Amino acid sequence: MSLPAGDTVVTYPDGDLASTGTVLHLQPLHDGLTAVILDRTAFHPVDPVWPDQPADAGVLLVDGRSVPVVGAVVGATDGTTLHVGDAPVRTGTPGWAFVVCHLVEDASGIVPGAIVEVEVDPETRRALSTGHTACHLASLALDDALSPLWTKEVPVDGRGEPAFDQLAIASSRILPDSSLDEYRIGKSLRKKGFAAADLPAALAGVTEAANALLARWVAAGDGVAIAIERDGDRLGERRRWRADLPEGTVKIPCGGTHLRSLGGLSAIRVELDHDPAAYSLTMRTTVERA
Ligand SMILES: [Zn+2]
Repeated sequence: MSLPAGDTVVTYPDGDLASTGTVLHLQPLHDGLTAVILDRTAFHPVDPVWPDQPADAGVLLVDGRSVPVVGAVVGATDGTTLHVGDAPVRTGTPGWAFVVCHLVEDASGIVPGAIVEVEVDPETRRALSTGHTACHLASLALDDALSPLWTKEVPVDGRGEPAFDQLAIASSRILPDSSLDEYRIGKSLRKKGFAAADLPAALAGVTEAANALLARWVAAGDGVAIAIERDGDRLGERRRWRADLPEGTVKIPCGGTHLRSLGGLSAIRVELDHDPAAYSLTMRTTVERA
């Protein structure tokens, strides 16, 4: 059984919840699970290099049997070895194939060449897409609200504001209808011109300004169209989140899934928690649906 020579074709960036694919490869793992690789899938896998959005939930349908997918992770192969979730290279590195590994407990009946239906749980997907869209918007709102604290010129975000999120992000976690971002405000950020000493006094106003901007965007509802743009349909290809905000279109590189618009939401709010001793700023973003 040879390893796939090309990337998995992925349809989740377009919002797909179901797909039909052919089994290309099976790999038993040390924990008793089996990684199932298909030529195409609607199932979003977690990317261990930047594990912001968790894997989808769902099943594989094989000959009328429903096989739960207990995890899904980006795998990488150089043609010799398949690395499941521990790729030594970043997703998209030339010379490697990047594949969605669907992890199952019982792979009986799943054989190379078999046709498999993929079914993604719609509620889990919707909650994670909601959390991810809110996370991006919150990062833009935070950049905007923190812009008065910059004393030097730095790279800017898609709205032309100093890119605090991009410069300070340490980790980002997408959760159902929410997200949690951790920023590091250390020596290098201060050197770039971030007035960290002013942050404690400014924090309440920053939170208020970010929430006011988010409220303006949410109020535009269906008028804020959101899509994923991509160079091609393979897992390793570059994708960008695009949102048509009232003030203009903004793009952010992104491998996840998103809402199609802000219609159906009643609020996106952030809470900021600053710990100067730990050089950290935590942003918790929550969404209320209408
Ligand atoms: Zn993203």
